[in-house]
Amino acid sequence: MAAVRRPTRTVYVGKVAVGGDAPIRVQSMCDTDTRDVDATVAQIHQLEEAGCELIRVAVPDRAAAKVLHRIKSRISIPLIADIHFDYELALAAIEQGVDKVRINPGNVFVKAGQKGIEAVVVAAKQAGIPLRIGVNCGSIEPRLLDKYGYPTPEAAVESALDHIRFCEALDFQNMIVSVKFSEVPNMIRAYELLSAQIDYPLHLGVTEAGTPWSGTIKSAMGIGSLLAHGIGDTIRVSLTTPNKTDEVKVAYEILKSLEIRAHGPMLTACPGCGRTEVDLLKLTADVEAALASVKTPLRVAVMGCVVNGPGEAAEADLAVVGGRGRGAIYRKGKLLRTANEDQLIPALLTEIENWKPDPEPGPLANTIPLRMRR
Ligand code: SF4
Repeated sequence: MAAVRRPTRTVYVGKVAVGGDAPIRVQSMCDTDTRDVDATVAQIHQLEEAGCELIRVAVPDRAAAKVLHRIKSRISIPLIADIHFDYELALAAIEQGVDKVRINPGNVFVKAGQKGIEAVVVAAKQAGIPLRIGVNCGSIEPRLLDKYGYPTPEAAVESALDHIRFCEALDFQNMIVSVKFSEVPNMIRAYELLSAQIDYPLHLGVTEAGTPWSGTIKSAMGIGSLLAHGIGDTIRVSLTTPNKTDEVKVAYEILKSLEIRAHGPMLTACPGCGRTEVDLLKLTADVEAALASVKTPLRVAVMGCVVNGPGEAAEADLAVVGGRGRGAIYRKGKLLRTANEDQLIPALLTEIENWKPDPEPGPLANTIPLRMRR
């Protein structure tokens, strides 16, 4: 069970609350050329469909900044502009009506000094939108690198705190903060240090996490460890993948694993052993594929034999148990029906359609905890 969440203030990105009592928000970032409005909007729609709640796009030049209004007018989740170095692009993005700007103050500072950051803060304040102060291990100011020797978590946190204090001195508190590292231990340490010192919502991520295989593991370890200790208000899983929706799926799997948020079914499966009586790999893959379009938040288990399967899956809302040519569907350990192996998936989908939560859940009933059902 996740620890009690550390209190943070609530910041609104468009109409979406981040921090405070709001659910941990899932966000992603487009990998399209932002200037290609149709391609960018199409990708945002795919991500929205997958459950993405906030979307960020890169703004590398003026042409990209100029199309932000057109993108925003065609999507229904808040649009965030991602700015590096050129503060004037942040001003242009704010003029275009974006819902938040992510700046990396370290590299804005390198190019324009404090006047660049000040101009962005003043514009964000006038527009009533938040900024993300996004410090990355690769963009810590030379002064702090001299002080700490290399990009340490302490250096990143000092950098973030300096920028936060600078914004506060301009009477600006509408901030979300991140201190990302690509090394998981550094990332965890940086967020732990930061969360002890501020109550702004924290955006968690392992930067440059990698492929769906290694990046998922790193993100689960980094983001998951912090969430398990109550730290974090919005998460972005960064993956090098042809399917950006992978980022959103992994983010929700992390939240579901920690029983923080429900998002469709939660699948468990036995690993198989010498007692397995079914093509378990195929059955599990078929169940996973069938569940992809199911929105109901319930636990589904796939078990490879009738010897231990029903008992071991007793806490699942629904369990598919393989046998020799025939299988069975169980609800909370009670047999619902049997079916030929090739009819198991349709039988499961029928049971999901008919599934209703128990009217008065006991301690083990409806095993997705109530706090996840919001
Ligand atoms: S449920 Fe059956 S097949 Fe699966 S691991 Fe347990 S004993 Fe083996």
